[in-house]
Amino acid sequence: MKFGKITMFILAAFALVFSFLFFLGSGGQTGSAIYIQIAIILAAVGFVLIFFATRIKSNPDAAQNVTVNIDLPGEVGMDTIKCKSCGGVLAAKDVKLVAGAPVVTCPYCGTTYQLTEEPKW
Ligand SMILES: [Zn+2]
Repeated sequence: MKFGKITMFILAAFALVFSFLFFLGSGGQTGSAIYIQIAIILAAVGFVLIFFATRIKSNPDAAQNVTVNIDLPGEVGMDTIKCKSCGGVLAAKDVKLVAGAPVVTCPYCGTTYQLTEEPKW
């Protein structure tokens, strides 16, 4: 129920805002304990609404099937070599074999160093 979740968040926001207003209203006056009580109740209602709204799991049948592949950036990061000096992404063409050892020349800053920790290359 996506609609219910959003509604709960909106109600929670209203509850917290009014709670804050009641809290401010109670500040200047003496004997306005009822305002503080209303503020506390509204704050509690707001937090409870947020608590339940965050626990609502979206219905897989009703919601659109958006599958975000979180693993993809990590795997891409594994397959790219970044310059240890400037952080620029190095391509395969930047890797050359010099005396049998793979040597990377950064096209951005010109740093040249041997590849020792990248077994994929
Ligand atoms: Zn570099």
